[in-house]
Amino acid sequence: MKILHKGFNYSQDGPGNRLVYHLQGCNFACKWCSNADTIPLENSNASEYSVNEIFDEIMRSRMMFFDGGGVTFTGGEVCVQAEELTELLKLLKGNGIHTAIETNGSFLSLRNIAEYVDYLIVDMKHYDEAEHLRWVGASNKSVKDNIEYFLSQGRQLHIRIPVINGINDNPCGFVDYFKKLDTSAAVFEFLAYHEYGKDKWKGDYEIKNGFVSTQKTKEFKDLFEESGMKTVET
Ligand code: SF4
Repeated sequence: MKILHKGFNYSQDGPGNRLVYHLQGCNFACKWCSNADTIPLENSNASEYSVNEIFDEIMRSRMMFFDGGGVTFTGGEVCVQAEELTELLKLLKGNGIHTAIETNGSFLSLRNIAEYVDYLIVDMKHYDEAEHLRWVGASNKSVKDNIEYFLSQGRQLHIRIPVINGINDNPCGFVDYFKKLDTSAAVFEFLAYHEYGKDKWKGDYEIKNGFVSTQKTKEFKDLFEESGMKTVET
């Protein structure tokens, strides 16, 4: 498996203290991506490990998984390495390790992978197809299909929406989409735009004035809650 970074964080990408792996490769090209170096399928800075090597590393780290923690795979897009990831997740589940993934939600293979995932985080970049294509470089149809599939199954979902000024900062568009669905098993999180990864774009960064106020993220939170949906902050 190709891994670009790994390290611990607390309660940001799933519950408790977690070992987080950033997998190399993504099929989207979000113009605000803060991990742009994970987008190419090949990157000389990424390290290659076998499934067993990563499994052994995780098992050696298990004493650190306190407060309900475990391991999280994020990216890039985790489903780009679906075959190896599924094999690894099966091993981890078989050994009692709490597993989480963060995904852009666009691959059909996500439905199989999710069987071995305790905590599923799916990003939703834009409710509008044309705007999604414009800013992400890909359709949102498969993202919506997967979200609708998981919600119809009553599957726990943590849905993350990055809020970016002038791009997707209309909460009504998101709420109108989600309120037609049974979101009782979902929680929603709104991430204010930041530019921590801007330097990784090496001058090709196109987002201008993407910052949003705390009032704007509160507007999202309030509107979702008024529509009966649960929200979280991590
Ligand atoms: S889906 Fe995530 S990793 Fe992929 S380009 Fe978008 S923000 Fe970056």
